Amino acid sequence: MFTSLSDRLTATFKNLRGKGRLSESDVNATIRDIRMALLDADVALPVVKEFTHAVRERALGAEVSGALNPAQQVVKIVNDELVAILGGQTRRIQFAKNPPTVIMLAGLQGSGKTTFAGKLAKWLKDQGHTPMLVAADLQRPNAVTQLQVVGERAGVPVFAPERGNVAGYDAAVESGEGTRSYGDPVTVSRQGIDEARARQHDVVIVDTAGRLAIDEALMQQAADIRAAISPDEVLFVIDAMIGQAAVETAQAFAEGVDFTGVVLGKLDGDARGGAALSVAKVTGRPIMFASVGEQTKDIEVFHPDRMASRILD
Ligand code: GDP
Repeated sequence: MFTSLSDRLTATFKNLRGKGRLSESDVNATIRDIRMALLDADVALPVVKEFTHAVRERALGAEVSGALNPAQQVVKIVNDELVAILGGQTRRIQFAKNPPTVIMLAGLQGSGKTTFAGKLAKWLKDQGHTPMLVAADLQRPNAVTQLQVVGERAGVPVFAPERGNVAGYDAAVESGEGTRSYGDPVTVSRQGIDEARARQHDVVIVDTAGRLAIDEALMQQAADIRAAISPDEVLFVIDAMIGQAAVETAQAFAEGVDFTGVVLGKLDGDARGGAALSVAKVTGRPIMFASVGEQTKDIEVFHPDRMASRILD
C-alpha cells in the first residue's frame, strides 16, 4: 500500500534538495510530478486538482525560512495537505449517553464488512465494552452463519434470526434457496437492539446486507434499517483495492445511508492508495478505522497524520 506513491514523492522531493530558493518553474515541475504520482495511485481527479492547487499556492507563497530548506518546506506543505484530505483529526466512535450505543455497518458484499464486525466487536471488548453483534444480513444464505463464526472468534454473542424468530429463515438456508424473501432485516435489527438492552450490552453492532454492486433495493433496505434503529454511528466499509470505483461507491452510500464514518478495508493489500486518499475528501466523512488483514486482531484506528507520515516516509 502506498509504496509506489511514496517512492514517487520521495524522488520528486529529492530533485529539490540543494536548491537555495524555489523558482516558479521548480514549483511547477514539482506539482506536475505530484499530480502524476497521485493519478497513478488512483486518487480521484477532483481530489488531485484541489490537492495540487493548495500545494502550489502554499509553495509559491512560502517564505524562505531559516529553519527549513525549500525541499523540506515542500515536504511539510505536502504533509499538511495530505493530513487535511485524509480528514485532519482522528475521529473516534461517539458513544451514546444512554447505552446501548448502536453501530450499523454498511457496504458492498465482499468489502470485508462481516470480518470487520468481528474485529470491531473484539476491539471494543478489549476496551472494556460489552458488545453484541446482530445479524441483519438476510440476503446471503451464509451471512448469518458467517457472523456467528466471527462472533465466536471474537468471544462476542450474536443475535441472529432463528427458526420461529424470522419465519422460514433456516428452511430457506437449508434448501439453498437464499433468504431474500424470508427475513425482515428491519425487524431483526430492532429485536437485536431490544435484546442487547435487556441483556445490558453497552454496544450493538448491526451487520447489514451487501450486494456485489450498488443497487436501489440494497440502498433502500439500508436506509430503512437506519431509519428504524437510529444508530449512533453508521460505518461504511470500503475495499481499498477497488481503486477509482471507490469514489462512486462511497458517494452512493453517503447519499443512500448517510454514513457517519468510513472503514478502509484491506489496507494490507497492494492497493495503490487512491481510495484512502479520495473517500474522506469526496464524501466529507472521516475515515475512522482501517482493516489490515483477515484476522480478528487486524484493525487499526485511523490517524490521518500517521497515514500522511507513512506516505512520505
Ligand atoms: P462482506 O461480504 O463485506 O461481509 O465481506 P467478508 O467479511 O466476508 O470478507 C470478504 C473477504 O475479504 C473474505 O475472504 C475476508 O477474509 C477478506 N477480508 C476481509 N477483511 C480483510 C482485510 O482487511 N484484509 C484482507 N487481506 N482480506 C480481508
